Amino acid sequence: FPALAKSDSEVLAAIRREEGRQVEGLELIASENYTSAAVMEAAGTVLTNKYAEGYPGRRYYGGCEFVDEVENLARDRLKKLFGAEHVNVQPHAGSQANMAAYMSVLNVGDTILTMDLAHGGHLTHGMSLNFSGKLYKVVHYGVREDNHRIDFDKVARLAKEHKPKMIVAGASAYPREIDHSKFAEIAKENGALLMVDMAHYSGLVAGGVHNSPVPHADFVTTTTHKTLRGPRSGVVMCREQFAKDVDKTVFPGLQGGPLMHIIAAKAVCFGEALQPSFKAYAQQIVANAKTLAETLMSGGIKLASGGTDNHLMLCDVTTIGLSGKIAEQALDRAAITVNKNMIPYDQRKPLDPSGIRIGTAALTTRGMKEAEMKKVGQWILEVLKSPEDAAVTTRIRGEIATFAKAFPVPGL
Ligand code: PLP
Repeated sequence: FPALAKSDSEVLAAIRREEGRQVEGLELIASENYTSAAVMEAAGTVLTNKYAEGYPGRRYYGGCEFVDEVENLARDRLKKLFGAEHVNVQPHAGSQANMAAYMSVLNVGDTILTMDLAHGGHLTHGMSLNFSGKLYKVVHYGVREDNHRIDFDKVARLAKEHKPKMIVAGASAYPREIDHSKFAEIAKENGALLMVDMAHYSGLVAGGVHNSPVPHADFVTTTTHKTLRGPRSGVVMCREQFAKDVDKTVFPGLQGGPLMHIIAAKAVCFGEALQPSFKAYAQQIVANAKTLAETLMSGGIKLASGGTDNHLMLCDVTTIGLSGKIAEQALDRAAITVNKNMIPYDQRKPLDPSGIRIGTAALTTRGMKEAEMKKVGQWILEVLKSPEDAAVTTRIRGEIATFAKAFPVPGL
């Protein structure tokens, strides 16, 4: 960064330290990933200079002929990737994508039926402090206590009782494949619209290792930066009948000028996800999660639902005498990054819950496979066995820095 080095050494120094952290540690946050160097290059271009309110061919600013090309590439590739009838690539993030889907068909006070945050749902699925919880009447389903799988009997019962205008499927901390066809059936029976927020597993859908919600849902939203491995952003897809409403809701309803540099980076990401190599990546994410899950379970850690079908697992660390907060902090000292997380039916509080959430997408992008997952799992177990032992965490931190050198972070 020669210009930054000249003009702002403080910001550059912090960026360099963050680069070091990303290279030398093990990134296991389930919602994170490493984008390709091409995605990062596109995000760092002159497109950030351009105002382009409106849509390709119908802008409120001059000079949009080239950003139109970029947005059309992003739209066409996204449609092809998921087989969607209509797409909008302008939402700034996943939360805005969800807001756009809701606001294109819901009125304030309408009822939505969504997954409980405490069972793995997202803030935008009706949490009381979030816009979604303030604007809509929210009814929650969750997972069953006995097997931690989505309780479809409850989804059906609540849909019948409350007749929600929309049912929302998708989650932030659910380790199993979601049966979209079941949600569609319940929505149809009760005259509800179906929205699927596949933010976490859209990369797995793109790679063919998770069933697609697109044939089943009226709206599908996703972030682009998790398993899909693009820039930090979001998109909405919908059936053709809602196309105009969605576009009007995103602009001028919710946003002004789109972030054209990020839309360019999204186009690059969708192009990458259309390559055959993306399938192998998606398959490896799941294989890695299974191996890591088995390693952790063999060390006495209980997993919510007893395992994983996707890129993430929820580990109940109270089974080895810890809390999620203590586990997160100890692993952090060893350069293993995870986040503390509630497990279903957690008796503890969100700021110090019983679990940690672990995902394998980022390490898979670095080229790690099953053998490396076993090693990573052993390190996690070793740290969690002696969370207060600085000698252990310091030694493991050093071992990881050496080990990680063999698995380059794209662009570094
Ligand atoms: N939806 C789900 C299921 C998520 O997990 C997330 C982010 O974690 C979002 C939406 C929101 O995305 P963003 O943080 O980009 O607003």
